[in-house]
Amino acid sequence: MAKKPKPPKPPYRVVLWSGGKDSTATLILAHEKGEPIDLVLMSLMWFDKKRGIPAENKKHLAWVMNYAKPLIESWGYKVKFVSSDKDYIYWFYKIRQSSEMHPETIGKYYGFVLGGSCKMQGEKALPAQRYLRQLRKEYDVTEYCGICIDEPDRLAKLHARKGQRSLLEEERLTQWDTRRLCKRYGLLSPDYNGNRNRAGNCWFCPNQKIPELAELKTESPELYHELEILAQEKNTVARGFKYGVPFEEIDRQVKEYLANPPPPPAVQLSLFDDMEDFT
Ligand code: SF4
Repeated sequence: MAKKPKPPKPPYRVVLWSGGKDSTATLILAHEKGEPIDLVLMSLMWFDKKRGIPAENKKHLAWVMNYAKPLIESWGYKVKFVSSDKDYIYWFYKIRQSSEMHPETIGKYYGFVLGGSCKMQGEKALPAQRYLRQLRKEYDVTEYCGICIDEPDRLAKLHARKGQRSLLEEERLTQWDTRRLCKRYGLLSPDYNGNRNRAGNCWFCPNQKIPELAELKTESPELYHELEILAQEKNTVARGFKYGVPFEEIDRQVKEYLANPPPPPAVQLSLFDDMEDFT
């Protein structure tokens, strides 16, 4: 007897939200177009899970929890958080078990994460992937990704995968457009102000520039101090905090920057400034 075909799975639409401008603009577009989004999914990471210290930039996380999430929920969208299994402290104090190239490093702690191959990226992706895998057992899941038309490499990857869609691509929005759209809705994370061009990054990220680390030192000295404590651990594989540069040197540069801050940029309106602000 021929097997009965399985009934099709019901559709389920998920927006992967980081609180950054592109994923937030995706939510705004969905809201404007009346897209039936079933779930807004955000991955959170930890610096130290035991002591309850999150990995995300403090200002950004407070904005997500206290402002953006309630607003998005008021549009009828359900917001869910999933969180990393392992924290930064786990990866810092993980002991290297083997190395053919550098046997002298066996038995040492890994130390500060490396900018180019950061273990915390996996900690961000894994819980969301695990949650989506569970959903796919019951539903025909479509992931809405915040990828703009001026990101051809990321779009090519999106097109190669099944079950992913970018509203930003469909509406021909660039990264600049998403920033303006978020600003218009009052949904641009405060993380974009001051020294930062990205939102939702980890406060301990080695890819940060000196002005960003200076901002961490002045606005969240208790977090900066966590890095100072870790920097005292010398039995590590990683030779430095930022691309081989020791934390002590980075701290020297941060102090120098704070002692001689650059003059504030002149206020200048260009043709491309947000016209909505003035109309
Ligand atoms: S923001 Fe930096 S530290 Fe955090 S996951 Fe990305 S590369 Fe790693």
